[in-house]
Amino acid sequence: MDNTPVPPSPAHPVDVVVVGAGLSGLYQLHRLRELGLTTLVFEAGEDIGGTWYWNRYPGARCDVESMSYSYSFSPELDQEWEWSERYASQPEILRYIHHVADRFDLRRDVTLRTRVTRAVYDEAGHVWQISTDTGRTVTARFIVLASGCMSMPKDPGIPGADSFTGAIFHTAGWPREDVSFAGKRVAVIGTGCSGVQAIPVIAEEAASLTVFQRTPAYALPAHNRPLRGTEIAELKARYPEFRQAQRLSRGGTVFDPPTGSALEADEAERTAAYEAAWESGLLSGLLRTYTDILTDEKANETVAEFVRSKIRSIVTDPATAELLLPRTFPFATKRPCLDTGYYATYNRPHVTLVDLRTTPIETITPRGIRTSDWEHGFDAIVFATGFDALTGSQLAIDIVGKGGATLRDKWADGPQNYLGLVSAGFPNLFTVLGPLSPSVLTNIAVSLEQQVEWITDCIAHLRRNGLTEIDAVSGAEADWGVRVAEIAARTLYPAAESWYRGANVPGKAHMFLAYAGGLDRYREECDAVARSGYTGFALSTASSS
Ligand code: NAP
Repeated sequence: MDNTPVPPSPAHPVDVVVVGAGLSGLYQLHRLRELGLTTLVFEAGEDIGGTWYWNRYPGARCDVESMSYSYSFSPELDQEWEWSERYASQPEILRYIHHVADRFDLRRDVTLRTRVTRAVYDEAGHVWQISTDTGRTVTARFIVLASGCMSMPKDPGIPGADSFTGAIFHTAGWPREDVSFAGKRVAVIGTGCSGVQAIPVIAEEAASLTVFQRTPAYALPAHNRPLRGTEIAELKARYPEFRQAQRLSRGGTVFDPPTGSALEADEAERTAAYEAAWESGLLSGLLRTYTDILTDEKANETVAEFVRSKIRSIVTDPATAELLLPRTFPFATKRPCLDTGYYATYNRPHVTLVDLRTTPIETITPRGIRTSDWEHGFDAIVFATGFDALTGSQLAIDIVGKGGATLRDKWADGPQNYLGLVSAGFPNLFTVLGPLSPSVLTNIAVSLEQQVEWITDCIAHLRRNGLTEIDAVSGAEADWGVRVAEIAARTLYPAAESWYRGANVPGKAHMFLAYAGGLDRYREECDAVARSGYTGFALSTASSS
């Protein structure tokens, strides 16, 4: 099937260019089509799917339950799609995305294998001139960056990788063809959520697996299992109410919020609550036990110690267990990982843990990895080293706004925008799941719908009123930045050197990059701004219109 749309030219501009054909971009396309707008989606990958296209590493699986981590906009879609597992695997989520694209006929407006490289704002015409790596140029009134919050793989910065004679993989750019580790000596560098999911599965196949760990993670058991027909039917019967509850929730998942402090509960009561949370298989299970886990160091330490006790009870070699204990940051101030068999994998005789805190990597060599004390020989190296999160995919595009200012310069000391949606001086350019919005702290399936719907309503408002430009007002933007920082400062998040704070990328400004006030509050703020006629934004009409 040739899904390449007729190329628009500057003489035949489109209304909107959407960057990225993942969950956000496809939904944005669907919504804009309903407004009757011409929309073009550019996707760098060879197929649609975004995160779920690129992250096809062994064991890749969502850490939000499948019946919650899916679009809510179509009751019919909710009823007809059947998830097979409690936590969907990457292939199943990709099948779902393909199903949605086909069902809503989305592919015909998606141009694949095309990366947006540059966007320059035309201040007189209130349009963007957009260039791609295939030489296409397009003029569009609006741009929506649906380019992903975790989509720009981080350069691990380890010298010598080019000299390695074996195979090198990155979890965030896994090949589409089958990869076999059978009979191979494999290294995994990195023990964040990607590494934690991949390690047990690679260990199943590899002749030997060596894990290079710099910072131990808090990994919680998923207790994944096939979904029962009865539970699917039960949820489907009340899907409309469930979806509404998700929308109104703090994080995009539905649960009864805790009421008490961890420090007021006695130890037996607390341990029982933590045991139940551990057994629940929910990523946020432990966070849901008490109100102060993320705000009080002592309360947090009770959970952290509980997880450590679990690690000690699973890992049979006490020295290995000790190395796996997370001690350098409070629980959940880096995103916890959801795993199947992660800690138990270290009990297998062919799996070795290398502690990079005592023996750092010096270089990759033609034969393997040299740490400060040893050269380890490998046939394959897997980088599970993470992303330039939240800002990476936007700053990869050379974005030139009013007065020739670039977004890269403006954001050199950290991102600035209003409501996480529009950055002053870069009008008509919206971001989905970008910095200073709830994005990564929530179930993104719910967050992206909220932002896409807000953006769609905003564009509809502009058109209804003959307006051609929306820009953030600098004062409103500055206030938003202060508010996002103040909310984060009331939590323990700043205590971790995490990608939430840009700390994993050398040279990146350190600031808390997400709105931690909850999706419910964020939605209220966004809706109030829209109801008020877009307070904090400047709306105008091009003189040529
Ligand atoms: P990550 O959380 O940033 O973890 C990267 C790991 O690589 C860390 O252990 C890091 O150590 C290590 N590392 C980075 N550079 C290194 C170097 N040069 N030498 C040695 N170690 C190095 O990245 P991720 O695991 O890809 O996960 C990122 C996020 O994606 C997650 O937090 C989550 O939000 C999302 N994700 C979700 C799922 C899911 O839904 N199931 C799965 C995977 C990922 P340090 O900590 O010491 O820097």
